[in-house]
Amino acid sequence: MNVLILGSGGREHAFAWRMRSSKYLNNLYIAPGNAGTASLGTNVPISPTDFLALKSFALENDVDMIVVGPEDPLVQGIYDYIRNDEDICHVAVIGPSKKGAQLEGSKDFAKAFMGRHNIPTARHKTITLENLEEGNHFLESLQPPYVLKADGLAAGKGVLIVEDENEAKRLLREMLNGMFGTAGNRVVIEEFLKGIECSVFVLTDGKSYKILPVAKDYKRIGEGDSGLNTGGMGAVSPVPFADATFMEKVEQRIIIPTINGIRQERIDYKGFIFFGLINVDGEPKVIEYNVRMGDPETEVVLPLVKSDLLELFVGVATETLGEKRIEIDNRFAVTVMMVSGGYPGNYEKGKVISGIGEITDSIVFHAGTTQQGDETVTSGGRVLAVTSYGDTINEALDNSYRNIGKISFENSYYRKDIGFDL
Ligand code: ATP
Repeated sequence: MNVLILGSGGREHAFAWRMRSSKYLNNLYIAPGNAGTASLGTNVPISPTDFLALKSFALENDVDMIVVGPEDPLVQGIYDYIRNDEDICHVAVIGPSKKGAQLEGSKDFAKAFMGRHNIPTARHKTITLENLEEGNHFLESLQPPYVLKADGLAAGKGVLIVEDENEAKRLLREMLNGMFGTAGNRVVIEEFLKGIECSVFVLTDGKSYKILPVAKDYKRIGEGDSGLNTGGMGAVSPVPFADATFMEKVEQRIIIPTINGIRQERIDYKGFIFFGLINVDGEPKVIEYNVRMGDPETEVVLPLVKSDLLELFVGVATETLGEKRIEIDNRFAVTVMMVSGGYPGNYEKGKVISGIGEITDSIVFHAGTTQQGDETVTSGGRVLAVTSYGDTINEALDNSYRNIGKISFENSYYRKDIGFDL
């Protein structure tokens, strides 16, 4: 099969890496890809949201399947675009329809869906400028801190957690007045849940599902999870506190009702569901849905999936996923992200990376990298994800940290405490 992966991060490099070992793979293309994906397939300089250009490329190159990495093309409707065009509807798309992608694209839609299917989540209310007063009353009924979420996609920045009630009221008004552009035309106010978070990933064909290893990511730039939010500084999988008892509750109360809900509401969904969960005294609740894999979680989850990934994807596309077996490695996998100094604020690009060739016992997934002649140089904030296996989390971490010591680029930074709380 000829496969086109959309995206340019560590997640997409991990997809390409896993896919390369498939016996069904013929040509692999990545749009736009990075220096890491270039060694596994052909990078194609097309944006993942330029549907017309993607269509032309797919037709010219006999692409059989498009695997969508990031959320933007999904929320913009790439699945429906391909399905509804008779020239290209034979191409499988791994990702949900535009309606399914609303589970991530609209927090209000996601909350209403959870309400219809009795899926445990935080108490909430959706507010617009018209019912601002109701929002203020709802805030008065809650205990601090207060959680305010822009309804639409806001590049991971649309969630505010505020201690003071008056500040929360002020920010609610600002959000509704355009602080996050149109993403904040509606704001979801939520009760704050206290607990420890983890991410559960499911692959589904809309009828049956396979649960992938559970992961925990580390969002903040600083050690001890301090400082600004980032795209993710590292991840660990599986997560010790997500034990069999917890996972049984997750499956019965969250995964099965979500899949049943998708089916009952006739949502075309052939891809990943990412459940952002919080464990509140042993009880799982949904913080958010994402409609694609996480990054950097993919860099620990896919290394633990031993089955042929492309065969699973064919099962998704042909609605025969239930007949496939999924085999999982029982070791731990960790990843530590090397970033450009200054990230998530301003940082410089174009720094030459050295030492990747000396790595043993770790997998280096590229994120913000590009090839310049013979050299690999930085081209983004998050640069490389260094993934390792171990029989314990510490053994895996030792491998990653030892290997990170061999890689250098000017002003590189990484957190030295990934997995510190597990
Ligand atoms: P992401 O970048 O993770 O996709 P997002 O913008 O989609 O983020 P959420 O995941 O809904 O937003 O929220 C971001 C973070 O805010 C969560 O990972 C969690 O740490 C915190 N958070 C969100 N909702 C709550 C809540 N009800 N109680 C406590 N913390 C919350």
